[in-house]
Amino acid sequence: MSRTGARVERQPLARYTTLGVGGESEVWFVETHEQLAEAMEAPYRILGGGSNLVVSDMGVPERVIRLSGPLAERDLTPDPALSTPDLIVTGWVGGGAPLPGLLRALQKLGWSGLEGTVGIPGQVGGSVWMNAGTRFGEMFDGLHTIEIVTPDGVRQITPDDLDWGYRQSGIPRNHIVTRVRLKLRPSTPEAVLEKMDQADQARKGQPKNKTPGCAFKNPGGVSAGKLIDEAGLKGTQVGNARIAPEHGNFIVNLGGATAADVHALLDLIRERVGVPLELEYELWPEHLGG
Ligand SMILES: Cc1cc2nc3c(=O)[nH]c(=O)nc-3n(C[C@H](O)[C@H](O)[C@H](O)COP(=O)(O)OP(=O)(O)OC[C@H]3O[C@@H](n4cnc5c(N)ncnc54)[C@H](O)[C@@H]3O)c2cc1C
Repeated sequence: MSRTGARVERQPLARYTTLGVGGESEVWFVETHEQLAEAMEAPYRILGGGSNLVVSDMGVPERVIRLSGPLAERDLTPDPALSTPDLIVTGWVGGGAPLPGLLRALQKLGWSGLEGTVGIPGQVGGSVWMNAGTRFGEMFDGLHTIEIVTPDGVRQITPDDLDWGYRQSGIPRNHIVTRVRLKLRPSTPEAVLEKMDQADQARKGQPKNKTPGCAFKNPGGVSAGKLIDEAGLKGTQVGNARIAPEHGNFIVNLGGATAADVHALLDLIRERVGVPLELEYELWPEHLGG
């Protein structure tokens, strides 16, 4: 336990990434702003759902902060002072809350605004930080207030205070999204579900194995998956990592893959595809591989 009562444990980050890869690191499970302030006293990283990360087999030297307890819970009660008949502004939703569970709850309530992000397996904080989304919608479609914690303190801001855009929020790295209030429109569970199904359909053909999602951004609007396919790389395997036969832009863990296996595949793709490719996911630490 830390001075302020945060649980601190050395754990393999493989447990917390959707790729199922990542070595041991010091994980701080913080439940309060006081614990968060203590965790931020030394170099740190903030880990969300680990769905956009390839973490080194050696782990990372910094503290790894994970929002837990109340900072991972959601209060969807409409705020009477901020809501109107046409607009629902919710209570606070913790940055550590899983996005898929939140979307299921909003669908049942028949509240519309975030359903275009269905299928994104991250947490609310991580998904806000990168403005995750699909062509059907993105996180900033449904944000009213964002609470951000920095080593200098806590700030509550609105999307208008940020220079946000395609897959980026404008929130500096390591400024932590602790909670948000959502802004939604009243609809019906059926209508929200219909939109979710539409967005889900577009994911058909994506692999179901452990993966951190798409490997590369589409260069100049050309499909990275198509380029990888044309280079004849689908199905290529290094160790226990494989370029998915279903979709060239996904690298999957067949069980027991290492970050080194994944890096070798990323390097191979870069070498064989004749166009410069920019990584879609993040490497921890940043200097390893691609
Ligand atoms: C199968 C699959 C499908 C996917 N589909 C999509 C898609 O359609 N669209 C899309 O945009 N993405 C997609 N992704 C990628 C990923 O799910 C999203 O980018 C997601 O928003 C990442 O959130 P996370 O909580 O998992 O963040 P993590 O992967 O844990 O972290 C990513 C970054 O966010 C930072 N971060 C995490 N939490 C916080 C916080 N509370 N405050 C500030 N910074 C934080 C981390 O430090 C890191 O820099 C997909 C991934 C998978 C595995």
